[in-house]
Amino acid sequence: MTTMTAPAWRDEKVLGFGMAVGGPASVLRPTTAEQIADAFAEVKKSGGSVALRGAGCSYGDAATAVNGKVLDLTRMNRVLGFDPLTGVATVEPGATVRDLWRTSIQFGYWPKVVSGTMAVSMGGAAAMNIHGKNNYTLGSFGECVRSFDLLTPRGELVHVTRESDPELFHAAISGFGMLGCFTRFEIETKRVHSGRLKVWGIVADDLEHNLRLLEELRSEADYLVSWLDLHAKGKGLGRGIMHRADQFHSGEDPEGLRFCEPALQDVPPNLFGVVPKGWLWPGMWGAVHLGQVGLVNALKFKAGSKEQRHSPYIQSHGAFHFLLDYVPRWQWMTKPGGLIQFQPFVPKAEGARVLRTLIEKCQAAGHVPYLGVLKRHRPDPFLMSYAVDGYSMAMDIAVSSRKSRRASLWQLCREMAEIVLDAGGRFYYAKDAVLLDSSFERVHGSEAVAKFRALKQKWDPDRLLQTDLSRRLGV
Ligand SMILES: Cc1cc2nc3c(=O)[nH]c(=O)nc-3n(C[C@H](O)[C@H](O)[C@H](O)COP(=O)(O)OP(=O)(O)OC[C@H]3O[C@@H](n4cnc5c(N)ncnc54)[C@H](O)[C@@H]3O)c2cc1C
Repeated sequence: MTTMTAPAWRDEKVLGFGMAVGGPASVLRPTTAEQIADAFAEVKKSGGSVALRGAGCSYGDAATAVNGKVLDLTRMNRVLGFDPLTGVATVEPGATVRDLWRTSIQFGYWPKVVSGTMAVSMGGAAAMNIHGKNNYTLGSFGECVRSFDLLTPRGELVHVTRESDPELFHAAISGFGMLGCFTRFEIETKRVHSGRLKVWGIVADDLEHNLRLLEELRSEADYLVSWLDLHAKGKGLGRGIMHRADQFHSGEDPEGLRFCEPALQDVPPNLFGVVPKGWLWPGMWGAVHLGQVGLVNALKFKAGSKEQRHSPYIQSHGAFHFLLDYVPRWQWMTKPGGLIQFQPFVPKAEGARVLRTLIEKCQAAGHVPYLGVLKRHRPDPFLMSYAVDGYSMAMDIAVSSRKSRRASLWQLCREMAEIVLDAGGRFYYAKDAVLLDSSFERVHGSEAVAKFRALKQKWDPDRLLQTDLSRRLGV
């Protein structure tokens, strides 16, 4: 296939979101499926490989290719249609979670599954099969995909539904960009009766209290997520603030209908209407580099009692879901070393023991996460699933620019990974930068890995699609 104005490859620095991994790469930004096909053909001819990349929000090396080629899909970002009767959106792969909700909310719909940042693209959301704060009830992103078009490295554009090709449907979603490039999706959203949510902040005194709250509330709450103070030791180990949010029923919040206006959902650019939030990260950089994160966490935990007293309160969907977008470029606070996120998924029965052990190990090694987030999950039907009937604990850890400290962090994470895998736990590649190839089968089981490898051989026999992650895992 040929196109009139072909985009050009450019030399750029392509890093993971955490800035701790990645490097130089040659980048192409196609605007049509034909241009992707042309790029595939060109790379194949040269005997090389190419990494697919969405918005680059994966923390590690899932969308990087050091000294290689990268296809950046962010220019294919149109919302092609929205059916107000069914709530189904038709989108291109580079359209973001923000593009999706800005379209759907006007018709009284909200995406069923959203990540903690709205910058994520639909292609990246499907390839990683992302989850939200409602994973225990509504499941993963893939469960709300009705169909997708996939351009395979063999050059075919296939339209796939659960019914037409269940095997490819359940492997391409969760398949971290290894089987083809998504070029279009049909995505289901859900009806909402207000532009706002009812929110409770609940103080959890320790890890066990946090886990108990997740179990007690999960049959009734629409969303649950706990912020953890991972600096706390002793009796307060694993303490935090659980946030529960519920949707309003029809007619319960007439005032909230006004908030179906997208501008009233967006995260405001200024703090108190004055200070540009883009200026906040240098202050946070100070906290990280002057060793004040423990103090900041303790103050935040203390403020939780006040929040609990004033609960429930009302928040827009956007404000509740996209807290991390409140501070643009917050990840720069970890410069120059950057950050990694380590997010183990642990079966329920092992949750308390394993998560406690991991927190203690981080504290003993002096690599205390500056942020911890606890969620409840349930299994999903996708081939490369990371989900378990249990918990995940996302730990954001600053990476030192000193080589020895960086090495000791990687060592710590690998030791923690052993504990998680021994307990039947799993890992999520959107957040991974440390796993070894020997872990790949242990995460998914040998049968699932054999199936995935067979599909890779079928749809990508020349191994055109590769990333730093896929090479690290020996996919
Ligand atoms: C602040 C923050 C908060 C987050 N919160 C959450 C959360 O709550 N829940 C959660 O699940 N995740 C969360 N994430 C992780 C994020 O959702 C995933 O990493 C997601 O995959 C990022 O999408 P992306 O568009 O940036 O894709 P990228 O990171 O660019 O790529 C991710 C993967 O998708 C593949 N890919 C991209 N586009 C295509 C395509 N068109 N076709 C085929 N493959 C493709 C890439 O090869 C890569 O393997 C968060 C990330 C950040 C930075």
